[in-house]
Amino acid sequence: QDIEVERWLRQTVQRFSLQAERGEVSIHLTCPPDLYLQGDRDMLDRVMDNLLSNALKFTPPGGRITVAAHAQDGGVAVVVSDTGQGIPPEDLPHVFDRFYRVEKSRNRRKGGSGLGLALVREMVKLHGGRVWMESVPNEGTTVTVWLPERGSRA
Ligand code: ATP
Ligand code: MG
Repeated sequence: QDIEVERWLRQTVQRFSLQAERGEVSIHLTCPPDLYLQGDRDMLDRVMDNLLSNALKFTPPGGRITVAAHAQDGGVAVVVSDTGQGIPPEDLPHVFDRFYRVEKSRNRRKGGSGLGLALVREMVKLHGGRVWMESVPNEGTTVTVWLPERGSRA
């Protein structure tokens, strides 16, 4: 499928606007027009839903989430950053593993099975893309998804 990136991301952000409002977190989108990619729309929606649900889950009231996309290396980079609790450096290499959750006790009440990011990585890989995460505890987290303009799922 041909995906117009700005429209796709606007709809993604829209799905979370109510939840963000309730959590007193703002979500911002920056994306240039005329940016396109080919891929499986359902799968890419699930990628974004997982990333945004994480950002919302781990960002306290008053925080800020930004979604920014730009053309890069013959593809599109989508960057989701938040001003949330962050991830300790020793946990960072494991967050894409199945069932891995940071500080299980602290996270228990937030719910989740630890599968979201493993699925994200799988779906991005199926598109021939890459995903990585940077984080500073108590400052925030940034996840970057890079997708080739013509994904292998297209
Ligand atoms: P699920 O997605 O299956 O509902 P989950 O959100 O706990 O459960 P993942 O999405 O795979 O699982 O994330 C794994 C862990 O990485 C989380 O439990 C959390 O500890 C950490 N994490 C992920 N995203 C963020 C983020 N934006 N800020 C802080 N920690 C995060
Ligand atoms: Mg998750």
